[in-house]
Amino acid sequence: MDVLWSPWRYAYIAGDKPGGVGGCIFCSLLDDPRSDEEKFIITRSDHCFVVLNIYPYASGHLMVVPNSHFGSLSKLEKVVSADLMELAKAAEAAISETYRPDGINVGLNLGKAAGAGVDGHVHLHMVPRWIGDVNFMTAIGQTRTIPETLAMTYAKLKEKFG
Ligand SMILES: [Zn+2]
Repeated sequence: MDVLWSPWRYAYIAGDKPGGVGGCIFCSLLDDPRSDEEKFIITRSDHCFVVLNIYPYASGHLMVVPNSHFGSLSKLEKVVSADLMELAKAAEAAISETYRPDGINVGLNLGKAAGAGVDGHVHLHMVPRWIGDVNFMTAIGQTRTIPETLAMTYAKLKEKFG
């Protein structure tokens, strides 16, 4: 498994909104007047938010994202990175309770060479994993079996976040 976070999916959504806020999908989301539910934003903290990946690697694939537009962890203020990790902890609990996975991948791709589809705005991926899913997905290439809709995922995780 070389590239886990499927950055081509972001290229697709980012391409849909060439305007946005500086062309950044996350800043555009924050600027978007639609409701959080319509945007699949599950929860917000003082400095960050949790949003579903709309092209999930598996059901429950979410991202924890700072509100501020920085492409490097070192640029994040301490209060922001601490907030990011607190939300990641809550997300771990929510994913675990909801999906009972065998494990969770938590990952950052910083910069295009690292596979970041949205280059310039730090985002932490969290993906529930099950023993055997890698072999299964390798066998079927890029096809993913997503057994529930995003709205269902959203409702389940939202409930866990309270
Ligand atoms: Zn941004």
